[in-house]
Amino acid sequence: MSEMNVADNIRVVLVSPLYGGNVGSVCRAMGNMGLSRLMIAAPGNLDMGEARKMACHARDILESRREAPDLKAAVADCAVVVGTSARLGLYRAHSSTPREFAPEILNAARDRQVAIVFGPEDNGLGNDDLAVCTHILQIPTVAGLSSLNLSQAVLICLYEIFLVVGSFEPSEEKAPVATTDLRERMFEMWREMLMDVGFMKDDMADHMMMGIRRVFSRGALTTDDVRILMGVARQAHHAARRGKAASEPQDEIENEVVQS
Ligand code: SAH
Repeated sequence: MSEMNVADNIRVVLVSPLYGGNVGSVCRAMGNMGLSRLMIAAPGNLDMGEARKMACHARDILESRREAPDLKAAVADCAVVVGTSARLGLYRAHSSTPREFAPEILNAARDRQVAIVFGPEDNGLGNDDLAVCTHILQIPTVAGLSSLNLSQAVLICLYEIFLVVGSFEPSEEKAPVATTDLRERMFEMWREMLMDVGFMKDDMADHMMMGIRRVFSRGALTTDDVRILMGVARQAHHAARRGKAASEPQDEIENEVVQS
């Protein structure tokens, strides 16, 4: 990468990888493409001998990896969380290819933390982990065999990012994109509020929230956007509790953004 800070703001997150050899190969692919920040979320027992062997000249990336108890913790400070999936199911409809999305990743990484997230070799990323992601990438393949080896999937994604460095024009400055932490707080408030107003019941809440998450993840939510949505949730929550729809604003600070 030609710009150090951009590379430093992009982390590769592996969720519960099973094979040390793959983790080593991921380090090698990262080294080839100029990235060095590796994070392992919910790590299990890895064969580190295999990992070191496959990392080859990129052992420093392996040794300096960081670990987090789960994906949410691994990306708590990230504004853009790019999940990768071989399958497009119910919640995976809005995916793009690494080639389409690489310029956005670079643009975001100029001043924000970006994570690119890969799933375990056996089952890939589950719905809970995909829910935390702001975007989904799918590497195009033939229809019948869409699942790539983990490190090969990493290599293809990072290669596309590597290619756009240098040929890249940043888009206009916007309000900062919200972090995972802030977004998750907002979804928590919406969940509570949507049950309060009778939009959903407890048994359907997980399912409905997946849909809500996808709607709100179609474009990047800025910090201001999230504060507005938090204000809406808070106000509706209070209105529902008081048993009337129209009520006075409850919180001066949250509503300031709406009015400005
Ligand atoms: N058997 C799993 C795939 C696991 S492969 C499944 O069918 O979902 C391990 C990881 O490599 C995946 O979780 C994903 O992060 C990445 N990967 C593999 N193939 C991919 C593809 N075609 N597009 C995007 N990511 C892919």
